[in-house]
Amino acid sequence: MIIYKSPEEIERMRVAGRIVADTIELLVSKVQPGMSTLDLDRIAEHHMRERGSIPSFKGYRGFPASICTSINQEVVHGIPSAKRPLRPGDLLSLDVGAVWDGYHADSAVSLFVGSDPPSETAEALVRATRESLDAGIAALRAGARLSDVGHAVQGVVEAAGFSVVREYVGHGVGRALHEDPQVPNYGEPRRGPLVRPGLVVAIEPMVNEGDWPTNVLADRWTVVTTDGSLSAHFEHTMAVTENGTEVLTARSDER
Ligand code: MG
Ligand code: MG
Repeated sequence: MIIYKSPEEIERMRVAGRIVADTIELLVSKVQPGMSTLDLDRIAEHHMRERGSIPSFKGYRGFPASICTSINQEVVHGIPSAKRPLRPGDLLSLDVGAVWDGYHADSAVSLFVGSDPPSETAEALVRATRESLDAGIAALRAGARLSDVGHAVQGVVEAAGFSVVREYVGHGVGRALHEDPQVPNYGEPRRGPLVRPGLVVAIEPMVNEGDWPTNVLADRWTVVTTDGSLSAHFEHTMAVTENGTEVLTARSDER
């Protein structure tokens, strides 16, 4: 069942969204070769708590950290660790969620550690994933159907020669981190629930350089590409309001 949000609830989610956006900006400014993903986790947790929020992921179904950090062939849900220093050219995905006054926001970015992407294909993968999120955002309009979002995402990804992960999807966001409806990143247009004010969803394309199947590692969290190819992930929490669609987790360069 979809829980539509009142303007007052969306106002609270705006605060959660701003905290998530600022946390991601802070992390992006700190990423450098030699540091560990656990260093990033500590920076993120400190910032989220200092702002009066709680990391959404900590303890979620037993997840042991405050953020997810997924490197190279890791798709999503990587566990921050002190063991693996970041290296120049690593494709790093940072996924951050915060709950403020009972409401969650959820967002993710992918970037290269250091200055240079390891290959033109890797650079194109990150660009296409970002552009596919933008296409999904543009498709989330009052009067559209929810499946228009995934259809738009899939079109951009496949035109660029990459593949959309099927086993993990976007989702409603609110008092729970994951609510109905599911928001797949693929599919036919004009299906599913009507998009209307009060709908709040996270759109989150996960895109593989190679084929779309994935596996979960023995840590029971980290999702990797089955073929070992690179994977990228971008995510924003979106609210549909009477005044249009709003990106609740927009960073300062997107506002
Ligand atoms: Mg997320
Ligand atoms: Mg999410």
